[in-house]
Amino acid sequence: MSLNEKEWFTEAFENNTAFAVHYTKKLYEAQSEFQKIEFYETPVMGRVLSLDGCFMVTEKDSFVYHEMITHPAGAMTPHPESALVIGGGDGGTVTELVKYPSLRSITLCEIDGEVVSTCKKFFPEISSGLSDSRVKVVCLDGAAYVKQFQDEFDIILIDSTDPVGPGKALYEMDFYRSVKNALKKGGVATFQTESPFFMANVFSDTVKNLRSVFGHECATPYLSVIPSYPGALWSFTMCSNEPKDAFNPQSGLSDELLKSLDYYNAQIHTAAFVLPNFVHKLIS
Ligand code: SAM
Repeated sequence: MSLNEKEWFTEAFENNTAFAVHYTKKLYEAQSEFQKIEFYETPVMGRVLSLDGCFMVTEKDSFVYHEMITHPAGAMTPHPESALVIGGGDGGTVTELVKYPSLRSITLCEIDGEVVSTCKKFFPEISSGLSDSRVKVVCLDGAAYVKQFQDEFDIILIDSTDPVGPGKALYEMDFYRSVKNALKKGGVATFQTESPFFMANVFSDTVKNLRSVFGHECATPYLSVIPSYPGALWSFTMCSNEPKDAFNPQSGLSDELLKSLDYYNAQIHTAAFVLPNFVHKLIS
């Protein structure tokens, strides 16, 4: 069967590059108040969620993203009690957080309730953490929601889309200051900070802005590989209200938690913070 005879879901990045997967069935399509939501069944990536034509979650590789946005922060905050996820409507990040027995409250602030409801239907495993009794879901703009808190959360994870549409508010300095205020003194806030390859300007500007709010020593990028995201190499930036040595996690994750993971481990934690020269140049 030639390529043309197959059905493809394609994410065109800035109309110059594209990543495509063959799908066997389009499971869902709707225009929510905020974005176009699509789900596909694919032989290679499993089920795929796309928002406004961008890969968001695939059954094949989203475990890397969800583990890597969550567990470096979890390893840096001994006995976290309260956590906030902004964005993350697929539930995958919350599903990683519910693995921490010390967490007593986990709030998901996702602006689009339709993302939550459809991911519960099409990604029952990835979204399973949403049914944990400690989890509260609010469907609001995270930039407005976080303003009400002061010194409230041990862990804040910003699992946002790109800086377009509603996601734009999550890349503003005012939002960064609000997150800093909502974070406890010893807490950690981790932001997904895009591709150092294909969104180098967004990455370097975001790290620079986070460093101007949290302090140069308190905003540390790290890397991982998410095959379905543009350029595959992906960045996160770990922030805190006091300097932390990212290379030396303060609390070892329990063996039970580590056994449940398929990507993150203590060596990966350390290696993730080792940056290649071109990334150092982008943030120096
Ligand atoms: N892992 C994905 C990534 O790195 O691009 C993000 C996945 S998650 C589905 C992104 C979510 O952020 C979307 O469901 C979107 O609705 C939500 N979002 C965008 N802007 C938001 C805002 N201002 N407040 C809360 N949620 C927002």
